[in-house]
Amino acid sequence: MTTGRFAPTPSGELHLGNLRTALLSWLFPRSVGGRFLLRVEDLTTGAEPRCQEEQLDDLAAIGLDHDGEVVVQSERTERYAAALGRLIAEGRTYPCFCSRRDIREAAAAPHGPSIEGGYPGTCRRLDPDEAAERVARGERAALRLRAEQCVVGFTDRLHGAIEEPVDDFVVRRADGVVAYNLAVVIDDDEQGVDQVVRGDDLVHTTPRQVLVQALLGLSTPEYVHVPLVHGADGERLAKRHGAISLRAQLAEGRSVAEVVSRLGVSIGLASPGETVDAAELLARFDPDDVHVADTLPPV
Ligand code: GLU
Repeated sequence: MTTGRFAPTPSGELHLGNLRTALLSWLFPRSVGGRFLLRVEDLTTGAEPRCQEEQLDDLAAIGLDHDGEVVVQSERTERYAAALGRLIAEGRTYPCFCSRRDIREAAAAPHGPSIEGGYPGTCRRLDPDEAAERVARGERAALRLRAEQCVVGFTDRLHGAIEEPVDDFVVRRADGVVAYNLAVVIDDDEQGVDQVVRGDDLVHTTPRQVLVQALLGLSTPEYVHVPLVHGADGERLAKRHGAISLRAQLAEGRSVAEVVSRLGVSIGLASPGETVDAAELLARFDPDDVHVADTLPPV
């Protein structure tokens, strides 16, 4: 049975673009009788119970029901530490002492990284004993995965085949926080997720995650990266575009049904002016014939 999920970070209100991605991540598995799970990705924000509750309320308000308990990343740190321990034991990681500035400067050098914005590999070349000594002396270090620009491919349901080199990315930050690209892989695997529907902005993180899956012997879910919603100015939807949260829309006098219908129009499942709920959108959704606009229709 297909198992999908939506995994918001509790860093503010969900906006209409997030809600549309959530709707799609619900429509895909539900349309084939599958499960839909929720996960709160609060490793970088720390627990934000109020924000988390508001986000989950908004998802319920637009009609997205979910299965099982909501998983909260900050309660699962020992699982990530165990996976990290395996990668460390297998010699797949190395400590990195570089500051952001070091990385910027090395990247600008003539022999900088071949991947734009990628890590230039400075600390990969350090003598391991010396690096271990620096860590033992208490010097702060992030932990990077030895990816060494290997090329990783996967097939996205909407984008087709994608193949990209992967740089030595951070799997644990210098402050000890486990990186998203590791945590997300562990969680998707342990929650039995086999279909990941998420925003296009994350498509370039996927080769990193596929590499982690391969190293840990985990299977790769199906990926469906969907277009983000943009404002009339062509920029990604953001606060400055006005009333973009569900609450703000309701405060402006719109109903939940109107908001859901507008999301439905933007994915070709409703006609302008029509009022439909999530259940009706689900009845109309065909996972093999998906059209997602990068804007919402005007109100
Ligand atoms: N937590 C991420 C976000 O809010 C989503 C991660 C994912 O879906 O893999 O952007």
